Amino acid sequence: MMKTVYLDNNATTAVAPEVLEAMLPYLKDHYGNPSSMYGMARRVSTALNQARTQTARILGASPEEIVFTSCGTESDNAAIWAAIRSNPLKRHIITSRVEHSAVKNLCEYLSHNGYQVTFVPVDGKGRLDLDYLYDHLSEDTAVVSLMWANNETGVMFPVEEIAREVKNKGVVFHTDAVQAVGKVPMDIGRTGIDMLSLSGHKLHAPKGVGALYVRKGTKFTPFLVGGHQEQNRRGGTENVASIVALGKAAELAGNLMAEENTRVKALRDRLETGILAAVPHADVNGDTDRRLPNTTNISFEFIEGESILLMMDEIGICASSGSACTSGSLEPSHVLRAMGVPYTAAHGSVRFSLSVYNTRQEIDYVIEKLPPIIERLRQMSPFWKSVQAG
Ligand code: PLP
Repeated sequence: MMKTVYLDNNATTAVAPEVLEAMLPYLKDHYGNPSSMYGMARRVSTALNQARTQTARILGASPEEIVFTSCGTESDNAAIWAAIRSNPLKRHIITSRVEHSAVKNLCEYLSHNGYQVTFVPVDGKGRLDLDYLYDHLSEDTAVVSLMWANNETGVMFPVEEIAREVKNKGVVFHTDAVQAVGKVPMDIGRTGIDMLSLSGHKLHAPKGVGALYVRKGTKFTPFLVGGHQEQNRRGGTENVASIVALGKAAELAGNLMAEENTRVKALRDRLETGILAAVPHADVNGDTDRRLPNTTNISFEFIEGESILLMMDEIGICASSGSACTSGSLEPSHVLRAMGVPYTAAHGSVRFSLSVYNTRQEIDYVIEKLPPIIERLRQMSPFWKSVQAG
């Protein structure tokens, strides 16, 4: 059977064997409702508490500051709705032009429903325009929501520095840290960050579980209104097995963070350097100085990312492209467009995102197999032919 080289860890990750093992008892024997009053249920609620402690630890937070949710998207929605509902007189929101759709589409919705939203621009390397951001902070701003790390390019915003400034103005600061948790050391208690979103399936836990950090003292209104779970901050019987998995995954991620920032980073750099050395008209998108250790986004000019993905898939390589095929037209990603990446390059962008499960052999396989794919596709490309013709 053909081996799979999985380089799409920013899309989702494999469930770690230790994580699966930790969660299975809660799908079998320990099925009690954690809110019930007998011993079997108490065991389950103890497991929830342990997961809360493990999740808090990777952030440098206290367990009471963790609210378990169903995913990163719910955490983002819960944070922004909580901020605006808790500050009903304020009608202004600040976010960036490169957020994940979980924040972007909610902010766009709010911009059509009574809120003024400032979408802060980025430069050609995906770096946030901080002056623009601070100039737009006002008495009317209810919340500033900015991602810690970009899912497409891996570029990191200086959220700790921004949170300090925003806090000085008395404005709530939320960060979507779905891609950063487990890759970047965090000591959230020491920052001005009020709320932070994370998602299990980017951390080797299953899909469909996430968490929202809510700093002690932050005004909060639940997004899911229902029972008293999560200290009245999120109604709904807890997804116990997945929460146990998230806790275990957070603990593992803490243990593996050093490896992520050394071995995985070195593999990412090897991949990037190897590809750039072998392929002309290829460029990295985004600021390589402030970037996640596992991500590289490379544009191969004059061809389409989707075609590259299809040909890589035939030889077992999984990655993502920066364009989404919607209604028959290939639209480059809003992130690359916000960075001003030219269309010919944005269309041909591919994101490779690694994990601790990748090996050097896998990276060398990609370095060997990808350049001839690019060459073949370029031979078929009318753009490439016109470039060659001068
Ligand atoms: N935010 C970012 C930056 C992401 O990369 C993702 C997932 O791709 C999400 C939010 C959404 O997370 P989930 O898939 O758990 O809803």
